[in-house]
Amino acid sequence: MTLENTAVSNQLNELLAQVKETTEYFLGYPVSKDFDYSELMPFLQYPMNNLGDPFVKSTYKVDSRQMEREVVHFFAELFRADQDNVWGYVTNGGSEGNLYGLYVARELYPNAMVYFSEATHYSIQKNVTLLNMEYVIVRSQENGEIDYSDLKEAVRYNRHRPVVVVANVGTTMTEAKDNIATIKELVGEMAIEKHYIHADAALAGGFAPFVTPRPSFDFVDGCDSISVSGHKFIGSPMPSGVVVVKKDNRDRIAKKIAYIGSSDATITGSRNGHSPLFLWYAIKKLGVDGFAKRTAHSLQVAAYTEKRLNEIGVKAWRNPNAITVVFPSPSDDVRSKWQLATEKGNSHIICMPNVTTTQIDEFVADVLVSS
Ligand SMILES: *Cc1c(COP(=O)(O)O)cnc(C)c1O
Repeated sequence: MTLENTAVSNQLNELLAQVKETTEYFLGYPVSKDFDYSELMPFLQYPMNNLGDPFVKSTYKVDSRQMEREVVHFFAELFRADQDNVWGYVTNGGSEGNLYGLYVARELYPNAMVYFSEATHYSIQKNVTLLNMEYVIVRSQENGEIDYSDLKEAVRYNRHRPVVVVANVGTTMTEAKDNIATIKELVGEMAIEKHYIHADAALAGGFAPFVTPRPSFDFVDGCDSISVSGHKFIGSPMPSGVVVVKKDNRDRIAKKIAYIGSSDATITGSRNGHSPLFLWYAIKKLGVDGFAKRTAHSLQVAAYTEKRLNEIGVKAWRNPNAITVVFPSPSDDVRSKWQLATEKGNSHIICMPNVTTTQIDEFVADVLVSS
């Protein structure tokens, strides 16, 4: 081995050790890490690329479009979409799915006003700015859920314009869920025909279908598109996501794009051909039962976390059926060790499927020692 090669291996080993160690203490971000994709490693030898529309054949054939379509249909079914009116694709993550949903909304209603709550993920503000859409930020309730009366007030004020609402199906900090049936009703009461509801279900889209009572978040409840992350509840070595939209809405955009001489249907040009394969593999291995089991485990650990923290005098709470436990921020040491995100004096633990009660016990012991 040359000296240079040794330096490269050393650097790689160092990074690997660091990644291993930081993954060990990881409670503050919604990322599952309990996956084994070793069967897929041979595919990393190939330049897979799903460029363009997954539902249209391409001359570039080193792809996983078949799997991508199955992934889209799997989520479409979980989200109770009309199977005859579904389109979607595997994205680079929840943010791209949000961008796509808003893009569809803007093409349908260029003059729309966009409404979303102050607890909304930062990708929405970025996306409406990119799309040059006007927006109103609506107040949130204490638990992070949108304030429906404030939303109603804001919509009434702009009632001459089409309405686009971005509903949070699990906010980033408290996992609060905006009720889509309530939002739909509110817009209907004001007789605003031109409206579009996009559901940002980056984290909770992976388990909301398995929670009882089922949150009001899907196509039957009244949304027009849903974005979910693939690397969050499912878990994947690289970021990914799925966006599901109504095919007839998408077709109206596709026509528009044909008009400018392009049949490109997604946001980016080249698209990751491996991530659909990883999601497909996870879906096949888990099955619907596996998703339900993961959900039950997360809910159980979340209840345990809330209880243990309260037992030591930390005022922890969570939204109904949330896997996110919120509490006043612990010391800097604890926050840094467990990689806890902090906002307005609060931190949270997200009980992803890989989080165990043993880890929670260790965390609680750390909080006790440092307080
Ligand atoms: C994580 C998250 C996003 C962004 O998803 P990415 O997959 O990181 O792009 C958007 N909205 C919410 C509510 C999230 O939790």
